[in-house]
Amino acid sequence: VTILAIESSCDETSVAVVKNGNTVLSNVVASQIKSHMRFGGVVPEVASRHHVEQITQIVEAALNEAQVTFDAIDAVAVTDGPGLVGSLLIGVSAAKALAFAHQKPLIPVNHMAGHIYANQLVTSMRYPLLALVVSGGHTELVYMEKDGSFDIIGETRDDAAGEAYDKIGRILGLPYPGGKKMDEMAHEGKETMHFPRAMIKEDNYDFSFSGLKSSVINTVHNARQKGDDINPYDLAASFQASVVEVLVHKTLRAAKEKNIKQLLLAGGVAANRGLREALSAKMALELPEVEVVIPPLSLCGDNAAMIGAAAYTEYRQKHFAGYNLNAHPGLVLGE
Ligand code: ATP
Ligand code: MG
Ligand code: FE
Repeated sequence: VTILAIESSCDETSVAVVKNGNTVLSNVVASQIKSHMRFGGVVPEVASRHHVEQITQIVEAALNEAQVTFDAIDAVAVTDGPGLVGSLLIGVSAAKALAFAHQKPLIPVNHMAGHIYANQLVTSMRYPLLALVVSGGHTELVYMEKDGSFDIIGETRDDAAGEAYDKIGRILGLPYPGGKKMDEMAHEGKETMHFPRAMIKEDNYDFSFSGLKSSVINTVHNARQKGDDINPYDLAASFQASVVEVLVHKTLRAAKEKNIKQLLLAGGVAANRGLREALSAKMALELPEVEVVIPPLSLCGDNAAMIGAAAYTEYRQKHFAGYNLNAHPGLVLGE
């Protein structure tokens, strides 16, 4: 089964051709970061406009790279949410047009399911499993009893981890999105400051990052007011230590309480070196019988291959949509 998948939920226009949910024939990603950088964040109107301009060429590029025509495509999949409504609508409209023109089934895919299924491009997913999904807009612990079933057992009460990275990056004057650069800086700095580990002792799987974010930002403002120098590398290291400790701690608690075969890391923040290393090390130490799967960097950020992987499950369950498919900006996993 060969699926053409489209992802346009935020600021990446991406089209992929994926075979049997696990083999990437092509995965073309056009990032708009340069256009949003000067605004310090994604501007929805600018994003939609770029998607419109790009989508046709990216579809062609993905087919060319995969060396297939539409004859070889069994279905067209598209992210229908969550995300920016104007951005999602471009992908959804393109997918509907292609599905109609070529008479192929249309498969709506949840963007967060896509992030999780990026792991199926790495290895077979074995159930039950637990996924830590950390991205620009979400921080969730998702329990999957079987293929296609999602149970969010914990999530952030306020900011997502990636959002905290980007906001602090902005205060430090880093270009948007600051997460990657903060991660690099953290590796050059030392944990000289102690920031709070919110909710770490609470008996649940939820997270909170807004207090941490404020605490870091206040530290920077106070130092600046006093005219003190603050070492941005040490600040990044201290902030990252707090984020990673909380994420790893809560994930391990959930992993121990659920009887799982695999632990998956997913989402843009899954690219974080500190998190990848700490999670692997802690799991190897405390739960060596559970396989830890972490996607390569190219599959952590938004891309259409992950949507094609998730779509395979929907295809087998014949979860097809009609031509009235709409964008769902607030779509929740499993609902
Ligand atoms: P969502 O998936 O929740 O809808 P999104 O699609 O905008 O949101 P992703 O593209 O999945 O988010 O991830 C982008 C986020 O990942 C940004 O916040 C970015 O700063 C962060 N990020 C990327 N690389 C790293 C890294 N190495 N360390 C920390 N954060 C990172
Ligand atoms: Mg993005
Ligand atoms: Fe994403």
